[in-house]
Amino acid sequence: MIELAESRSAHNYHPLPVVIASAEGAWVTDVEGRRYLDCLAGYSSLNFGHGNPVILAAAHAQLDRVTLTSRAFFNDRFGAFAAGLAELCGKDMILPMNTGAEAVETAIKVARKWGHDVKGITDPNIVVMEDNFHGRTTTIVSFSTDPDAHDGFGPYTPGFRIVKYGSAEAIADAIDENTVAVLLEPIQGEAGVLVPPDGYLRQVRELCTERGVLMIADEIQSGLGRTGDTFACDHENVVPDMYVLGKALGGGVVPVSAVAADADVLGVIRPGQHGSTFGGNPLACAVGETVVNLLKTGEYQARARELESVLFDGLRALPGVTAVRGRGLWAGVDVDPSLATGRQVCERLMARGVLAKDTHGSTIRLAPPLVVEAHEIEWALAQLEAVLTGS
Ligand code: PLP
Repeated sequence: MIELAESRSAHNYHPLPVVIASAEGAWVTDVEGRRYLDCLAGYSSLNFGHGNPVILAAAHAQLDRVTLTSRAFFNDRFGAFAAGLAELCGKDMILPMNTGAEAVETAIKVARKWGHDVKGITDPNIVVMEDNFHGRTTTIVSFSTDPDAHDGFGPYTPGFRIVKYGSAEAIADAIDENTVAVLLEPIQGEAGVLVPPDGYLRQVRELCTERGVLMIADEIQSGLGRTGDTFACDHENVVPDMYVLGKALGGGVVPVSAVAADADVLGVIRPGQHGSTFGGNPLACAVGETVVNLLKTGEYQARARELESVLFDGLRALPGVTAVRGRGLWAGVDVDPSLATGRQVCERLMARGVLAKDTHGSTIRLAPPLVVEAHEIEWALAQLEAVLTGS
């Protein structure tokens, strides 16, 4: 199966050599019946666990009724999803898409149009961060500082100013009369789960308000319970002008993404100016509405908060770990590069029944589904200890 996949698909990923055939909760099973604890959770798309029964029931019921209408017509699931998600975000409205990158593109377009219509800016720029990860489209990779993501894909989309992540001063210096927005991840996931200094998000919020530019928070990976709150911005009581959401919004079942903002921002988009055939389809809405309802209970956020110390205290006590960063059930772990590369650590973890993914050299990230139990985290940490000590 691996040979077939490798010979007949582009090598745009370098997967661990495991072939998953089924999954439940925090666990997956491969084609030979071996079980693994999933410590990646589809890059945080599976916050509510594999095969979450409530999400699956909603999806199954919707499959039997209607799955796609396109936005040429209304469907009977769309309004409730839009209202529920807007309310969860504390915003007036949403614009639904499918993938994360599409939602980021949407945020960029909305910010440019807002700048054009509201501020009369015809040559807009958006301030973005070094080491960002917002997706893979041509425009998004235009402002990536990762050579793998960026190099060779030009010509690039202009209109972005890249500044150091974690420095509100750098943003202040970069904003000029043509700036329409500041786009950032409240925690930089793909960069290695980098948490900015305390107070940074609040400073950015104040700066954006003072200078009259939109603060856009890409919460595609950090949002929807992962960090112990609904949004990572909540940790600093910050409300951005626009949330960008994806991944877990689709419950690990279908791709669902969206931006959420108030009417004075999202209202700039008129019929024919933006859209997606699948965005807001009834199946996506049924799943998305269920996800919103799960988050409204606060149960998943609470689990991430409660289990945070199990994960982080355990990680900090491990030999061979040089740094640990993160929040909730989301950790970036630097291992001593003289022991092994991140890839080697992940391969050895796999042999011991734990699936995790490396990023950038000797960093691995751990982000199990939020349904994981404390004893399962402890067991995974014991496997990591065995890998790092070579026992
Ligand atoms: N933004 C962030 C912060 C992400 O972590 C990702 C994916 O990892 C994306 C955007 C892109 O999402 P997608 O892969 O669904 O296009």
